[in-house]
Amino acid sequence: MTEEINPPVLVASRNVHKVREIGRLLSDLPLQFLSPDDLGLKEVEEEDELEPFGSFALNAMSKAKYFHSRSGLPTIADDSGLCVDALGGAPDVRTKRFAPSDWVEKYGLDEANNRWLLHALEGVPVVERGAHYRCVIALSDDIEHAVFEGRVEGRIARTPRGDNGFGYDPLFVLADRDETYGELPDFVKQATSHRFVAINATRPWLEERVCRPFLS
Ligand code: IMP
Repeated sequence: MTEEINPPVLVASRNVHKVREIGRLLSDLPLQFLSPDDLGLKEVEEEDELEPFGSFALNAMSKAKYFHSRSGLPTIADDSGLCVDALGGAPDVRTKRFAPSDWVEKYGLDEANNRWLLHALEGVPVVERGAHYRCVIALSDDIEHAVFEGRVEGRIARTPRGDNGFGYDPLFVLADRDETYGELPDFVKQATSHRFVAINATRPWLEERVCRPFLS
């Protein structure tokens, strides 16, 4: 009996949670999602320079192309962040590095970013606190590159609430609800989030370009 081996797809991230999350959301596809570490790709300094661009799409594509060139495998990469209307769309591609470094040293990354955001929105009324999370997924293989996007609308609360999720989740109130992502159970976030929408949108590409050639 021949053992069935699903074709590999590299997830261009050193974050094991991200690799697992993508694998879980696409677990019904006959693919195996691997991390750079699974492939023995050593972490090198130039990886820190892979997101220099002013757009999520260019940053995600830069990571996908880079890891595709190192592995030869079809590669999936993402870039995501928060855009706040009252701040002209900021922090955008600077979402992770929004707060100044002395705040990060004092409070840790996520708390510093949340505090900095509240500080930036001081005095802004509820109706003007609209925001959205965006996630862009890039895919790259030998021949083709593609980009898919997910977006979830909401607003920024006045105080952090709830311990679920990560990043700005204690401040992000999903549109048409009162709870923050920090207060909602994981399954609600997983079914509505920007990342969920973007990852789901990659299915036709993965089916057509990775699953189908392997079967034929
Ligand atoms: P990355 O693209 O996963 O590196 O995300 C960049 C930054 O966006 C993270 O460091 C978080 O601060 C923020 N972020 C992205 N997605 C989420 C989310 O689902 N919840 C909360 N914060 C997020």
